[in-house]
Amino acid sequence: MFHRSRSANTDKVTAADPVCGMTVNPAKAAASAEYNGTAYYFCSAHCAAAFTADPAKYIGS
Ligand SMILES: [Zn+2]
Repeated sequence: MFHRSRSANTDKVTAADPVCGMTVNPAKAAASAEYNGTAYYFCSAHCAAAFTADPAKYIGS
């Protein structure tokens, strides 16, 4: 008998779209980008384009 672990949390992982602040499911994100070794996820290609054009503008620090 196999014990399948119920991964309750894996489906609930979310990320914040740094451009518009929307909550994005990384698995279903319309676009993603990596900046300084961190992955960012976006609700749309439009937000991804805005971010990649000027990442520092959206990453406070
Ligand atoms: Zn967005």
